[in-house]
Amino acid sequence: MATLGDLLAAHTRAGDPALCESSDGTWVRCSACAHECLIPDDASGTCKVRVNHGGTLMVPWGYVSGAQSDPIEKKPFFHVEPGSRAFSFGMLGCDLKCACCQNWVTSQALRDPAAGSTITRTSPEELVHAAVRSGARSVVSTYNEPLITTEWAVAVFKAARAAGLLTGYVSNGHATPKVLDYLAPWIDMYKVDLKGFDELQYRNYGGHLEPVLETIRGLHARGIWVEVVTLVVPGLNNSDDELGQLGQRFFRASGARGSGIPNQGSPKRNRKSGQPAGLAGASPLETGAGMLNDRISGKAGLPGASSSTSPNGTIARSAAGKFISMSAALYAPPVSIRPGHA
Ligand code: SF4
Repeated sequence: MATLGDLLAAHTRAGDPALCESSDGTWVRCSACAHECLIPDDASGTCKVRVNHGGTLMVPWGYVSGAQSDPIEKKPFFHVEPGSRAFSFGMLGCDLKCACCQNWVTSQALRDPAAGSTITRTSPEELVHAAVRSGARSVVSTYNEPLITTEWAVAVFKAARAAGLLTGYVSNGHATPKVLDYLAPWIDMYKVDLKGFDELQYRNYGGHLEPVLETIRGLHARGIWVEVVTLVVPGLNNSDDELGQLGQRFFRASGARGSGIPNQGSPKRNRKSGQPAGLAGASPLETGAGMLNDRISGKAGLPGASSSTSPNGTIARSAAGKFISMSAALYAPPVSIRPGHA
């Protein structure tokens, strides 16, 4: 019986030269994510899905691990076509290995045999046809880390654009300027999962903080709609200090100008929404997001963009005029929901 590795090896094609280069005909440098792996022959990068075969980087192609039409707020995008459906698809693998990953079955499938994931062969046209049939207004690459499967996502996005659909990433944001340049002509919206402002924690996840901040700045500079979401994990990143830093440093990272005005109304709205007591520590974050919201106003950049507090109990603030918004989602289970990945 074919192993998952065999199946994936049969679903690859040569990577785009814009995202990989071979120096001496044997080693290959990949620039699809911030690891920028230098990969010897017959080996894979950190993500385990981009493989050097004889000096050619082979990348994932022609399959999905899952695809379905979801409410766009489930992605979550809170300010693009609210109430619409987003056709979501994913492949396998991730360049990070967060122990608290909600999508570990797909993201860690190459590291954790317990994931038990498999794949379904498909084409960009088939996916977009299914998206149109489902009534979706957008097509979103999610479930695994889309950066490491960017060539495939761009192929799907080209077909989606031709069908009049919006396109988006749900990503850890651990990107490079090269991959953002490659994506920019084909992507409308990008959700960055900013895990906190603790470099040590980012190293535990297998990455670094600065490239993620640079991605937020880079997306903003390229005029791409950005929403930033932080999963608030009690005991991991919900201290007043870290949440305060999240809001304030995000305000600066956004490139917004001005001194900022704390949003005095936020705690009241917080109580009204009936959020769990554990989120009370989110006030500094909400204040930071409120600063951003109060300093930036203007016309929405994408159809249906809005400024609102999400009905599902998360905090949502829009900075629509600048294509950036920030949210905090409370992650209820304890930190150690499963063992760390190898
Ligand atoms: S996508 Fe990232 S982790 Fe994977 S090979 Fe490229 S640089 Fe390395």
